[in-house]
Amino acid sequence: MPKQENGQREDSLIQNDLSESFGEEVRAFLGDEEKLHLFDDLTKVNPVTTRTVLKCLQARYTINLFYTNAGSSLVALNPFQPFSCLYSPELMREYHVALCPQDLKPHIFAVAEQTYRNVQKQMDPVNQSIIVSGESGAGKTWTSRCLMKFYASVAASVVSPNGSETVERIEKRVLDSNPVMEAFGNACTRRNNNSSRFGKYIQLQLDRFHHLTGASIQTFLLEKTRVTYQAPNERNFHIFYQITKGATAEERLEWNLPEGAEYRWLPNSERNLDEDCFEVTRGAMFHLGIGHTTQSNIFKVLSALLHLGNVQFSSPVDESQPCELQDKTKEFVKTTADLLQIPVEELLESLRIRTITAGKQQQVFKKPCSRAECGTRRDCLAKVIYARLFEWLVLVINENIYTDPSVWTSFIGLLDVYGFEAFPENNLEQLCINYANEKLQQHFVAHYLKAQQEEYAAEGLQWSFINYQDNQNCLDLIEGNPLGIFSLLNEECRLNRPSNSDLFQTRIEKALSSNQCLSRDKFSKKPNFIISHYAGKVCYQLAAMVEKNKDAVPPELVHVLQNSKDPLLQKLFPVTEKNQNNTKTQNRAAVVTVVSKFKSSLEHLMEILSRTTPHYIRCIKPNADCQAMTFRREEVLSQLQACGIVEAITISAAGFPVRIPFQSFTERYELLRKSWGSSKKRVWDKSNSHPAEKKGETAVMDDDKAPRAAVLEILQDAVRGQSPA
Ligand code: ATP
Ligand code: MG
Repeated sequence: MPKQENGQREDSLIQNDLSESFGEEVRAFLGDEEKLHLFDDLTKVNPVTTRTVLKCLQARYTINLFYTNAGSSLVALNPFQPFSCLYSPELMREYHVALCPQDLKPHIFAVAEQTYRNVQKQMDPVNQSIIVSGESGAGKTWTSRCLMKFYASVAASVVSPNGSETVERIEKRVLDSNPVMEAFGNACTRRNNNSSRFGKYIQLQLDRFHHLTGASIQTFLLEKTRVTYQAPNERNFHIFYQITKGATAEERLEWNLPEGAEYRWLPNSERNLDEDCFEVTRGAMFHLGIGHTTQSNIFKVLSALLHLGNVQFSSPVDESQPCELQDKTKEFVKTTADLLQIPVEELLESLRIRTITAGKQQQVFKKPCSRAECGTRRDCLAKVIYARLFEWLVLVINENIYTDPSVWTSFIGLLDVYGFEAFPENNLEQLCINYANEKLQQHFVAHYLKAQQEEYAAEGLQWSFINYQDNQNCLDLIEGNPLGIFSLLNEECRLNRPSNSDLFQTRIEKALSSNQCLSRDKFSKKPNFIISHYAGKVCYQLAAMVEKNKDAVPPELVHVLQNSKDPLLQKLFPVTEKNQNNTKTQNRAAVVTVVSKFKSSLEHLMEILSRTTPHYIRCIKPNADCQAMTFRREEVLSQLQACGIVEAITISAAGFPVRIPFQSFTERYELLRKSWGSSKKRVWDKSNSHPAEKKGETAVMDDDKAPRAAVLEILQDAVRGQSPA
């Protein structure tokens, strides 16, 4: 038997030693904390308190049991240490072929397999989604990757009617999207060396034989400011380090990346990470149909951004003149212009001079920008190029993995989005991220907590309602129309007046003071507002929020990029009639604010999710230092609360573990029902070890009024596929 590092037998990771236990037996473990690890479902821990739940999770964590069910959700603790046997192809197969995967140890593969079977069973709704949530570093991307590998392997295990090669090629391409997306969209942060700086929803498309035929990816809110600003101890996107470390001598010449050169936007490059591997990204890009020439074009543009970052301005002696370039900067401007294939004078002019159209005659004036404005323009240029490049990459990847809707009949969606964020300083990015989490929480509440309780009430079952937090109030505060923070922010952008954060703060308070989720940090001198989210209070700074929301790109910058000879930039910045002829029209068209865009893409996502059967995986980071096998209770607890798991466990524990529609139940157990009916009363056989027997009672099944425990037992048989009928 293969052994793990700690000597634990591998088979014990998958065998469910509690699978035969019934409720009463499980309760026999009460108070025996040494056996807490045996609970593979937190709802079975009784009494369900935060203390017992935490103890159970910790007990399991210390013996390498990282997955635990919590009703219909799965809690996944990050071991911060590789356990290859936990994700091996053999284990995937084990879950795939199991009679009932839920009888094996809790695992992401059990969720994956159940989801896959739901598709096969043509569940209603047939399309499925797995929502992977958790804070930064909790393991969402790792989990999503493992799930994708699982489905790729399940699809590959069946022979496609088009020949297995097609399946293999598609599954490889789908998997190859990961290293590419991560190279361009992930970065090393203080919380995670491979932190995803964007949200991702991938739809794995299945044909009528349930084979993986393709996929499509939707991304959300790339943190493009990282291109030009990296917080202390953080890094830029991985791809920049990959090209500077991995380019060949020839490429260094072509892309102008001499070895050892220093770039302001490339901090902490002495840190070598696994994610710095250029070869993997290139190989994956190639498989995704991005050939060597296009790749070279992309890397040349990225190199241009690194040179652009070294360009610095100084204020001119004569203010009527444009800013001057600091020492050596001329060289960097020249290289940037060469790599972007635009004339250097045009680049300089776009960075230093603003064009103003005014008056009835639409007269054009040119005004030199201040030193600060020049810096902002430089950063803006880099951000817009990178953001469009990322968008374009997603488009190309989608073109290469997407299949025609006539080919696929169902899908499994995997959602890997940033968790709830609360930093000492929060701004528009956190507002959007936390808004997304509120939406997902509402979805969870609607689908799970609310539905469960309402169903009990509708069926007339005895049930005392558990007060769960309804976050509609908070959502109204953010997305309410016309009175909500997003609407007010958009209004500020639309009016295009000089922004004044103090005034804006007053405006928000005046309009939204009746909402109890809104307050303010009165001790702070900076204008702010506080939102009471379901996961806690967050204070948002108003400074620069309106500008961030506008996300305006000076038309001169777009114009200069449109004139590039570089084929890639021509694709990223096409010359459309609108902006070719009239900059004013372009300005008006450009008022698609960050929050409007984010809100509509999120609504689109929620619309898709609402038409699928959801499954939840809650990733938990057991310690903030990413230390292997270290479990800190307070940190785990705050995450369990933030994802609503504590409430969910309480409701699940108090509720009924198995729900079968009455019609199906009677159909399936018709025979049994008849046998009850014929004898009217049936005394349970002693050897049946009925739980009630343990209490010294004789369990009597009455046809009209069956004891709950006995019904549960039948139901448990039913879910295990051991129907006595
Ligand atoms: P972010 O929101 O910052 O993107 P995340 O939730 O996606 O964070 P991951 O990048 O998936 O976090 O995980 C962080 C790190 O934790 C991984 O790089 C890996 O080292 C480790 N890790 C996560 N899950 C596991 C696991 N199941 N087994 C071993 N290591 C893991
Ligand atoms: Mg991630």
